[in-house]
Amino acid sequence: MKCPYCEEEMDKGFVQSARNIFWSTEEKKLVFAPGKSDDIPIASGFNGATKESYFCKNCKKIIIDLIND
Ligand SMILES: [Zn+2]
Repeated sequence: MKCPYCEEEMDKGFVQSARNIFWSTEEKKLVFAPGKSDDIPIASGFNGATKESYFCKNCKKIIIDLIND
């Protein structure tokens, strides 16, 4: 995948966590779980969460495709 910012080739890898990963417009303080209806789940799993993603080492940006495999 080409980086949309600098157009260099990005490195394929995985965003990973021992817990669920989600995106939210608000920063969670105590309960780190999706709560609002517009919170976006990224990955979850019984033994940790992983999601394929692409990293640009020039721009220090990661692109995550939210479509499930
Ligand atoms: Zn880039």
